[in-house]
Amino acid sequence: MKPLKTLFYKPHTSTLTVTSNHGFHLRPAAKFATEAKQFSCDIHIEFSDKKVNAKAVNAILSLNLDTHDTFTLITHGKDAKKALALLNQTFALLMNSESTHKQVEKQHTFYQSPTLSGEIISDGIAVGNLHHFTLQEIQYTSPTSFNEAVKESTEELEKLYANSQKDADAHIYPAQKELLLSLAEEIETLEAFISRIDTEKEALKNGRHATKIADLDDLLYRVKKHMGYSYEVSLPKTPFILTADDLLPSQIKILEHSTVLGVALSNSSLTSHTAILLRAAGIPSLLLDTPLNEKEGKVILDAYSGVIVLNPSPEDLLQAFKRQNEDEKLHVEIHQKRFEPAVTTQGEKINIFANVSDLDSAREAKEEGAEGIGLLRSEFLFKEHKPIIRDQVKAYRTIFELFDDVTVRTLDVGGDKALPYIDIPKEENPFLGIRGIRLLKTDPKLLEEQLEAIFTAADNRPIKVMFPMISTPEEFKEAKSFALNIALEKDIPIDNIRFGMMIEVPSVLFALQEFNTLVDFYSIGTNDLAQYLFAVERTHPTLKIDPHSPILFEVIKRIMQKSTKPVSICGELAGDTRVIPELLETGIRTLSLSAKRIGQIKDKVRNV
Ligand code: PEP
Ligand code: MG
Repeated sequence: MKPLKTLFYKPHTSTLTVTSNHGFHLRPAAKFATEAKQFSCDIHIEFSDKKVNAKAVNAILSLNLDTHDTFTLITHGKDAKKALALLNQTFALLMNSESTHKQVEKQHTFYQSPTLSGEIISDGIAVGNLHHFTLQEIQYTSPTSFNEAVKESTEELEKLYANSQKDADAHIYPAQKELLLSLAEEIETLEAFISRIDTEKEALKNGRHATKIADLDDLLYRVKKHMGYSYEVSLPKTPFILTADDLLPSQIKILEHSTVLGVALSNSSLTSHTAILLRAAGIPSLLLDTPLNEKEGKVILDAYSGVIVLNPSPEDLLQAFKRQNEDEKLHVEIHQKRFEPAVTTQGEKINIFANVSDLDSAREAKEEGAEGIGLLRSEFLFKEHKPIIRDQVKAYRTIFELFDDVTVRTLDVGGDKALPYIDIPKEENPFLGIRGIRLLKTDPKLLEEQLEAIFTAADNRPIKVMFPMISTPEEFKEAKSFALNIALEKDIPIDNIRFGMMIEVPSVLFALQEFNTLVDFYSIGTNDLAQYLFAVERTHPTLKIDPHSPILFEVIKRIMQKSTKPVSICGELAGDTRVIPELLETGIRTLSLSAKRIGQIKDKVRNV
């Protein structure tokens, strides 16, 4: 008999066509299934002779929906009409946003020796011995049950996402979590899970989603890891060029810490997660048209021309080394000058500061040539447990000792940033909810302890304290008097502490005159400012804000005109070489950006 909930309703259907060049693959499918899960009605996708549950990402993937495939979406039950309308919309957005990965244009280079051609995943050039990737599985005894391991794996994926910089590759984690949950549903043992993964892989093998097999392997690896399995990747100690059919996204992290010079894959795709991560790691990489049979020997991996040169002749090697030298020279020049000031051709000194989130990134910033810390994202300092004041003091003191100029932002939790020890009730619109300084209303004790720790660690140093998400002068006044009270109560001298705020809520623009009388400094957070300016969630998987929009520059210009206090910029825009001249034109003289980009940004400034 039909379940009661569907008996009184008639089904609603729509016909949808896959328009993305990549088909309906993991990321859009995961997003689609998440949206579908919001509804209690039944939601199915019918394609050729198969009908699957659209709330399960693996079920969607099993259809192998390719470009131009047309399927039927069926909703049945309570709110079926509403669900259909929303899912139609979601699907259209997902298809539109699935832009093709821009293929890197190949340069033409003549080599005397035989070559194998391929597509460029990540450009660069490498010369070295081949090493074929192998993995050895070792099992230790572990009391963790399969279900516990799934729970730990999903938590790990959540944490990876929470701690990521929310760049392109970060969205892999929620997609993988969604896939894991649907695959592990009603499964109790590892054996049953392996067999399910095998079935899924078999179904994907010949279809459009063959590369997503890497995601399935990655999930299995993650669950097994929590059950006591360990995988030993044996990599040479001397520099090498890695060949593999494909790599798991998690293995790229291991490679990043190895002596790898380049990577040649033969069974991946330019849009796979592995490819995204290889690009992010800056490892010259190719996707070969045919598998590489040679397991050993010296090769040139030319990921500018899209070829691998086998048994290169002395002339070929000379040519490759020449190109490598040119690259290296440019890189070294930038790196060598990283501690030198960034002065424009007009003789203007621009302060280049770093955005950091913990001790390691603060040390890295020092090593990369940062002149100070323009933004310490303190919410990432203690990610796992609520820290005691003593531990906080210790961490702040270590960071304050590294630089003369440090700006600490008070906890900016909420929105897409969660902390396990802060209980923010579920909100419909978290980015418009309890975020940043609004924590003062819900968790004053937490802010109190943090401010006490910062003031104590400052030891009379001229530290800057910055409040996030300020939207009105009253909010700033309240936050500052809260801070002053703590210093008074705890009897900590704070004469050298300066109080400022982030400009990331557009309402601030209309009260700058009053803010000028209250604050010691401003820092423009273009990430959130753009989000609230254009009303587009900064983590939205499909809607994108144009980071170079003239409207955003108009806003920055306006802030610079109206402000009578120092203004810096600490959003992602500050690390974008393409907009540096424009930013400097607005009058901005202090940029705060991620440590890895400091050398390049200084180089850019010197040429403005
Ligand atoms: C910003 O919003 O631009 C900013 C720098 O802060 P966060 O990215 O930490 O929200
Ligand atoms: Mg922000």
